[in-house]
Amino acid sequence: MTARILDGAQIAGDIRREVAEEVAVMAASGVRPGLAVILVGHNPASEIYVRGKIKACHEVGLSSDQLTPPSATTAELLAMVEDLNRRNTIDGILVQLPLPEEVDAKKVLLAVDPAKDVDGFHPLNVGLLSTQRPGLVPCTPAGILEILRRSSIPIAGKEAVVVGRSDIVGKPVAMLLLNANATVTVCHSKTHDLPEVCRRADILVAAIGRAGMITRDFVKPGATVVDVGMNKVTDPAEFQRLFGSGLAANAQREAAFQKRGFTLVGDVHPEVAEVAGALTPVPGGIGPLTIAMLMYNTVKAAKLRRGSGVPELSRA
Ligand code: NAP
Repeated sequence: MTARILDGAQIAGDIRREVAEEVAVMAASGVRPGLAVILVGHNPASEIYVRGKIKACHEVGLSSDQLTPPSATTAELLAMVEDLNRRNTIDGILVQLPLPEEVDAKKVLLAVDPAKDVDGFHPLNVGLLSTQRPGLVPCTPAGILEILRRSSIPIAGKEAVVVGRSDIVGKPVAMLLLNANATVTVCHSKTHDLPEVCRRADILVAAIGRAGMITRDFVKPGATVVDVGMNKVTDPAEFQRLFGSGLAANAQREAAFQKRGFTLVGDVHPEVAEVAGALTPVPGGIGPLTIAMLMYNTVKAAKLRRGSGVPELSRA
C-alpha cells in the first residue's frame, strides 16, 4: 500500500481564500481585522515565522502591526500587551515564542486579553475548548482537524492516538479529537510500549519533536498518520537512516541536503508511507495550515469581539 498524501499546502490555500473573502465582506462594512505580533530579539527561526505570518496577513487583507524590540523585560512586555489589549483596531495579539529566558513568558501570555488570544493559549480559551464553547483554538491543532475533515477522514467513533502532550499541540488536538467523538489516547515519554499503543490508532498524531521516530512498527495498516514534527536534520548518517542513499524517489531531497547541509523532517519515518492509508507530508503538511488557521483565528476574534458570530469555513 502507498499512503494517500494529504496536501496541507493546498488545503491551507483554500482556507486562506475563504478567510480573504470574509475579510473583504468585513472591510466593506468598515471593519478591517488586525493582527499584532510581538517579537523580542533576533532568533532567526522566529524571524522567519513572523515574516511568514505578516506576509499571510497582507495576502488575506488583514492589517498587521509588528512590535520588534531588540530586548524587553517582563514589565515592558506586560505594558506592550496592555496597550494592544486596549486598542480597538487590534483583534489578535500573538507573542512569538520563545521569549528570552529572563522573561516570565507565562505571565506575559496570561496578560493577553482572551478575546484577542489568537494562539488560543490563555487558560480561558483552554477551558472554552474543553467545554465545547466558542473560543479561540490553538492554530496547529485546529489545522489538524481541518486537514482531516477536508480530506474526508472519518473521526467519530475512531481510535485516535496522540503522541505528545504539550499545551501547544498534544493536549489541544486530543481535546479537539475527543470533541469530534473519537476515542482518544494521549501518549508521552513515560508511556509503556508506545508502538503497541500507537498500533491501535485509526488516526495517529505525532507531535514529539524527534526526527523519524514513528516507524512502520507503530502504524496499523491503513491508518491515517498526521505528522506535526518539524525537525532539522544535519547529520548525513541520520539522513541515510531516514531516506537511504541514492534512491531515485529521494534524489531531489538528497541534492538539496548536500547543497544546504540540512533537511526538514517530521516525527514520522518516510517508510510509514508504505503502511499508512493517508499521511501528511513534511514539509507541506501541517505547517502551512498553522498560518492559515492564525488568519482564520484573527477574523474569528474580530467577529466574536463584535458579537457577530463565528466565521464558517466551508469544508469540501
Ligand atoms: P514539546 O513541547 O517538546 O512536546 C513534545 C512531547 O513529546 C512531550 O509531551 C514529550 O513527552 C513527548 N515525547 C518526547 N520524546 C518522546 C518519546 N521518546 N516517546 C514518547 N513521547 C515523547 O513539543 P511541541 O511543541 O508539542 O512540538 C512537537 C513537534 O511539533 C516539534 O517537532 C515541533 O517543531 C513541531 N511543531 C510544528 C508545528 C507546525 O506548525 N508544523 C507547530 C508546533 C509544533 P513528555 O511530556 O513526557 O516530556
